[in-house]
Amino acid sequence: MKIITHTCSDCGTVVSANELEDRRVTKCPGLDCEAVLRFSDLPERDREHFLDNRERYRL
Ligand SMILES: [Zn+2]
Repeated sequence: MKIITHTCSDCGTVVSANELEDRRVTKCPGLDCEAVLRFSDLPERDREHFLDNRERYRL
């Protein structure tokens, strides 16, 4: 299964698409990082892949 993640452009923290999709908008979990990450920050191809296979990404 393809792992889809987003890397914070400010601090490099990696966040899974799962976390982004649950909340749509989430504050970066990185230490002392105030960046806001959005599901829509993912490339369209990754978003489509994730939504098409959503059930398999459920933990
Ligand atoms: Zn960050």
